[in-house]
Amino acid sequence: MNNSIISVKNLKKQYGNFEAVKGISFEVLEGEIFGLLGPNGAGKSSTLEIIETLRTKTSGEIIVDGYNLDTHPNHIKQIIGVQLQTSGFYPGLTLVELINLFAGLYNQPINAFELLDKVNLKDKAKAKFKELSGGQKQRFSIATTLINKPKIIFLDEPTTGLDPQARRSLWELIKDIRKQGTTIIITTHYMDEAEILCDRVAIVDSGQIIAIASPDKLIDDLVASGFERPKEVKKANLEDVFISLTGHSIREE
Ligand code: ADP
Repeated sequence: MNNSIISVKNLKKQYGNFEAVKGISFEVLEGEIFGLLGPNGAGKSSTLEIIETLRTKTSGEIIVDGYNLDTHPNHIKQIIGVQLQTSGFYPGLTLVELINLFAGLYNQPINAFELLDKVNLKDKAKAKFKELSGGQKQRFSIATTLINKPKIIFLDEPTTGLDPQARRSLWELIKDIRKQGTTIIITTHYMDEAEILCDRVAIVDSGQIIAIASPDKLIDDLVASGFERPKEVKKANLEDVFISLTGHSIREE
């Protein structure tokens, strides 16, 4: 059994009179891919940004890798990697220049080419950020989360807007990062993605966790409750058709 690397107890976040996060508790285990799912406005970003030390909480206790958020926020910052929105990168700088810029900010020596190789972007080392495709931009933004060699990375809807091939390539990258021992917390609106990637998911609604378990267990529980799909499920879906016709290779150039 893995150890807990993040522990959230009775977390509350209030914006004025509005309680966006209503006393949620959960643990993330070391080495797992943990999904935070829920409709827009459920409180996912508020929760994650509090753990990331980017927002203040109203109350509750958060421990990350043994450090209490209240007393050791700087220790926590050093062991986490947070994905920036792709709009946060200087478009006119090359990938190597951007990595060196971040490495300087983190005060971390880093071999930019090795890092780009990890995310399959070595060929683009001298390309400007604005010249990348959507999938490449996402892969690059994931690379930047790894600069400080974090124990935990946070990915916020990393595959939104990507074509099926690019999504699959991102899934492989995320699985590779986990294989190397990094714990990953991800938000997504794609349930197929959560099912494929996540060891466990928490479903958040109106500021509360309404379910938390492995995707398999949640599906089994639903089936056991008597749920049936309204029509017979075919052995393939339209996405299978798309991938089968257009292949797995990425079309970014
Ligand atoms: P999610 O990430 O699940 O979409 P958020 O955490 O962004 O949810 O938002 C939860 C709720 O809190 C929403 O109703 C949102 O409008 C509200 N909210 C988020 N940030 C602020 C803020 N800075 N001020 C006021 N209300 C906010």
